[in-house]
Amino acid sequence: MSNSDGRRAAHTGHITPLEHIYDMIIVGGGPGGYAAALYAARAGLDTVVLEQLAPGGQAALTQRVDNYPGFDQGIDGYALGGNMRRGAERFGAKTRITQAKSLALAGAVKQVDTGDGTLLGRTVVLATGAVPRELGVAGEQELAGRGVHYCAACDGMFYRDKTVAVVGGGSSAAEDALLLSRVCSRVILIHRRDTLRAEKVYHVPLSEASNVEFRWNSVVAELLQRDGLQGIRLRNVKTEVEQTVDCDGVFVSIGRNPASGLARGQLRLDPAGYILADESTRTSIPGVFAVGDVRTKALRQIVTAAADGAVAVHYAQEYLAQGGGPF
Ligand code: NAP
Repeated sequence: MSNSDGRRAAHTGHITPLEHIYDMIIVGGGPGGYAAALYAARAGLDTVVLEQLAPGGQAALTQRVDNYPGFDQGIDGYALGGNMRRGAERFGAKTRITQAKSLALAGAVKQVDTGDGTLLGRTVVLATGAVPRELGVAGEQELAGRGVHYCAACDGMFYRDKTVAVVGGGSSAAEDALLLSRVCSRVILIHRRDTLRAEKVYHVPLSEASNVEFRWNSVVAELLQRDGLQGIRLRNVKTEVEQTVDCDGVFVSIGRNPASGLARGQLRLDPAGYILADESTRTSIPGVFAVGDVRTKALRQIVTAAADGAVAVHYAQEYLAQGGGPF
């Protein structure tokens, strides 16, 4: 489709006729971003992906992805990210390793300011993801992926017939504890209050799971390690009494922080900061789409992020076919 479409852009009043205008600028090179790039490039859209580090997003930090179909032996998350990038670039999508610093999304020609220049696009796909909250305990980052984990569905299988702790009291922690109770021999759910915040639907199955134990009013004070994780030291927040619990792995499930700062003040967000978008991925601004973990959705997984990317391109094409905004 269009490359340098200066006549349209001139209507915005501040874009010179010679500036390049992409059909689609994708911010974030995780599975949602590169699925969008693949579909957009195959549809002939002039597409660029902005990624600040390496492709793959959160998935790139997972040592083995077993729940993305098509890989019968699983696949290293970093390798999967690289495959997704090359798959999209094969059809002409471009990647720029740069950080998007600010967005101007309201006009027909949208503007993305980066560390090394400003890009213009007729559509923008936000695929910036969400970052799991960390415990903030010493040694956590060093043990990440090797004893401390943030995704039970991704890494639970490494702890078959072992003892794990799950930290958190929300629906994610409850869901993770139930999932792990089917894989591990013993699951210890650690929550800083004396009741779960999790939806009621989880309470009975959790209390009936014979291998799930609870440590109420407790927080992780220390990760105990000797050649890897050995256990944790808990502190009761009411009594200040500490206790040591042996375990092979810790799953931190205390919520996520959506990486939606760029959209704040422009797009509608939910109270937790996720970009409001339904299954169509369309946001509150025409021509702007939110895919993957950064948008409001029930299940944040690689497969659902990738599906979002494809859907976003479907609606972006519809938007572009209708004139691409109020020129
Ligand atoms: P959440 O509801 O915000 O719960 C986070 C939990 O972690 C809370 O129990 C909180 O304790 C605890 N926590 C937060 N920071 C902590 C810290 N520094 N140390 C120890 N504990 C800490 O997050 P979520 O469980 O990820 O759920 C997010 C949203 O997704 C919710 O709206 C949830 O309903 C939804 N969800 C839905 C489903 C489903 O429908 N199947 C499944 C999963 C999640 P406090 O309780 O003391 O605040």
